[in-house]
Amino acid sequence: MKEGTNVSPCGALCPECAKYPAECAGCRSIEGRVYWLAYTGRAVCAVYECCVKGKNMRDCGACPALPCEKFTKDPTLSDKENAANLAKMLRRLKTE
Ligand code: SF4
Ligand code: SF4
Repeated sequence: MKEGTNVSPCGALCPECAKYPAECAGCRSIEGRVYWLAYTGRAVCAVYECCVKGKNMRDCGACPALPCEKFTKDPTLSDKENAANLAKMLRRLKTE
């Protein structure tokens, strides 16, 4: 399936990100090794690792723990913006 036509494991849509596609090929193409991990000390996104690698699921939509503690705040957003963004991601995961 073409990258960007489906939601990422966390509910994000890669084409909505300014880094896509020139600087990042998209979550599934890079298998969760996203650029901002440089600020976290992790090698792979915790959501991607748990959902795709750990539970062998395509996305978090069916997980009873959603949204779990791995859904951390985006530091580039205000609390209000982050909450709105998370709500949008969860809506996508529940309706896709
Ligand atoms: S790398 Fe992680 S946060 Fe980014 S789109 Fe993929 S699952 Fe979501
Ligand atoms: S615990 Fe569930 S909601 Fe959290 S990252 Fe893993 S699959 Fe997704």
